[in-house]
Amino acid sequence: MSAIEINNVSKKFGAKEVIRDINVSIDEGDFLVLLGPSGCGKSTLLRMLAGLESISSGEIVIGGKRVDQLPPGDRDIAFVFQSYALYPHLSVRRNMAFPLLMQEFRLWYHLPIIGAMAKRRIENSPRVVEKIAKMSKILGLTDMLDRFPRTLSGGQRQRVALGRAMVREPEVFLMDEPLSNLDAKLRTSMRSEISRLHKEIGGTFVYVTHDQVEAMTMGTKIALMRDGIIQQFGTARDIYTDPANTYVARFIGTPPMNLIMAKWDGARMMVGSLAIAANLSPTLAASDVLLGVRPNAITLATDLSNDSLNGEVVMVEHVGADSIIAVRLKDGRTAHNDDGDLDAVMVTVPGYCMLSMGQAVSITIDPHQMILFSAATGERIRRLT
Ligand code: ADP
Ligand code: MG
Repeated sequence: MSAIEINNVSKKFGAKEVIRDINVSIDEGDFLVLLGPSGCGKSTLLRMLAGLESISSGEIVIGGKRVDQLPPGDRDIAFVFQSYALYPHLSVRRNMAFPLLMQEFRLWYHLPIIGAMAKRRIENSPRVVEKIAKMSKILGLTDMLDRFPRTLSGGQRQRVALGRAMVREPEVFLMDEPLSNLDAKLRTSMRSEISRLHKEIGGTFVYVTHDQVEAMTMGTKIALMRDGIIQQFGTARDIYTDPANTYVARFIGTPPMNLIMAKWDGARMMVGSLAIAANLSPTLAASDVLLGVRPNAITLATDLSNDSLNGEVVMVEHVGADSIIAVRLKDGRTAHNDDGDLDAVMVTVPGYCMLSMGQAVSITIDPHQMILFSAATGERIRRLT
């Protein structure tokens, strides 16, 4: 049984369709990442799973039960938001115990003295004490249970927010960019923290981010979205090695995959007037194509010849262990970027590269690492072999 099924779900705000006929199904224990640029509909889709937003058509099934008409409280989910909304006047312990308290909430808890006594009784019940102990241990919060949110760092607060979502042990955890308010270093450590939590407590996670690194490192499945449409759904490896189209190809990877304009003439792959080695089988009709090549699948040389792909270095960047070199190809051979503009070919070279601006170089592409896209539609044609 799938943990979550999203079947033909669409969402309109007025006349504007922001989610268009989405189909996704994930298994129990999956960590699904909804990835895409700002405004592509990630939060809307997550909020529809949570029941915070209605759906315009389709159906949502969680744990075998159709939930799209149920209120949020009747879906077995917990939601962690981008800004960790903790209660400032409650200790870490009480913040975490709060959802458990609410499970046993009775109207007379509003009465000051009786309410306070009842709350304390629930908080001190073995069930609650045990749960808080277990969660705070997993989250590394054991020593902070009596502190107040204002005395905690951003990362610690976010862990309390996670703890509060987790104590209810819901079937599904929904998280909307929970790390985007943290600084870069903390984001990296919280990333592995959340992955570890997912492994330890199990459960199904749906996690929204615009950050490809978060998606690649945390997701067991990734749905890459654009304009309310899923461009590709698969594992991080699928999406990196077999991108369905040029959009996916350029969204994942830094620098992004190069797209080099070429022509398949029925017998040879021509880049400008140069034929490059490639066998295509089965045969492909003559057409304009884009050769997708990752920056690390290209090698540079300074000995040029008439049958090499020659160009000129237009940028050198040293980034830690690697150097990034931009090469503008000669003779009308061009790569193109997201806007369809002509662009230089990006090459990643291990170590400190000694090439300098203006230097003449040739590039060699590993034919086994090329992906062929239709220049007309941007769809992947097939791998070159
Ligand atoms: P993301 O989370 O990927 O950045 P959202 O799901 O927040 O994207 O938004 C998707 C689109 O829907 C955006 O164009 C946004 O302006 C629009 N949108 C979101 N919420 C509403 C709303 N309540 N009313 C009208 N339009 C909305
Ligand atoms: Mg959003």
